[in-house]
Amino acid sequence: IFITFEGPDGSGKTTQLRRLAETLKQSGHDVLVTREPGGTAISDKVRSIILDPAHEEMVDQAEVLLYAASRAQHVHELILPALKAGKIVLCDRFIDASIAYQGYGLGIDVETVRAVNRFASSGLQATRTYILDVPVEVSLARLHKRAPGQDAAGQQLDRIEQKSAEYHNRVRAGFHQIAAEQPERVFVVDANRSEDEIAVDILAECSRLLKE
Ligand code: ATP
Ligand code: C5P
Ligand code: MG
Repeated sequence: IFITFEGPDGSGKTTQLRRLAETLKQSGHDVLVTREPGGTAISDKVRSIILDPAHEEMVDQAEVLLYAASRAQHVHELILPALKAGKIVLCDRFIDASIAYQGYGLGIDVETVRAVNRFASSGLQATRTYILDVPVEVSLARLHKRAPGQDAAGQQLDRIEQKSAEYHNRVRAGFHQIAAEQPERVFVVDANRSEDEIAVDILAECSRLLKE
């Protein structure tokens, strides 16, 4: 079973993914937690190129292909072998992020982004996707909580996080569009609530999924 967490920057994906992973492990499941861009040595190196705030010159096509390259290595080296071994794989972002950020956010043809990623991942799709939905003002405020210009971990905002609120609103609308098109796979969670309330909803839905 391949479960992905999606949603805007600062929507609470990592927080909720960790909570679900802990709960599943405690009930005896074999769980692999991973993230994109990243997850393998090659994928992490590509991540640092993509997110480097110094790379203002990066063209949109390169951005799409770098995410896809990072994903290709991640899928084949880590995710597919784990799924084959019967693990539950929880992944922080996946192809929907490319469709929302590079497709709807940057305005690149969505079918092109899909096609590139179908190739990169050999057609792998998530069994279930949780989209954490929250207004952009709220999610960006969470990231800026500690210090202006820095994320919640006190690190400098990355190249994507620094983009405009208009860009982040297009991304959020993109996630809504994906959810509307694939309601059987995608579960939208109101993430403008307490961590506990969100975790309860995700666990309830995931428990249903595991019983199927
Ligand atoms: P990114 O896209 O940057 O990786 P994310 O979606 O993984 O962000 P988190 O890192 O989980 O988001 O959370 C961002 C910040 O918001 C953290 O400081 C976290 O503690 C806080 N946070 C997470 N969930 C909530 C919540 N439900 N209410 C308030 N704050 C939250
Ligand atoms: O979730 P995480 O913070 O690790 O993501 C790293 C950055 O990559 C974020 O700023 C996110 O907005 C960006 N991203 C993106 N396009 C993707 C995946 C992630 O712009 N396809
Ligand atoms: Mg995160």
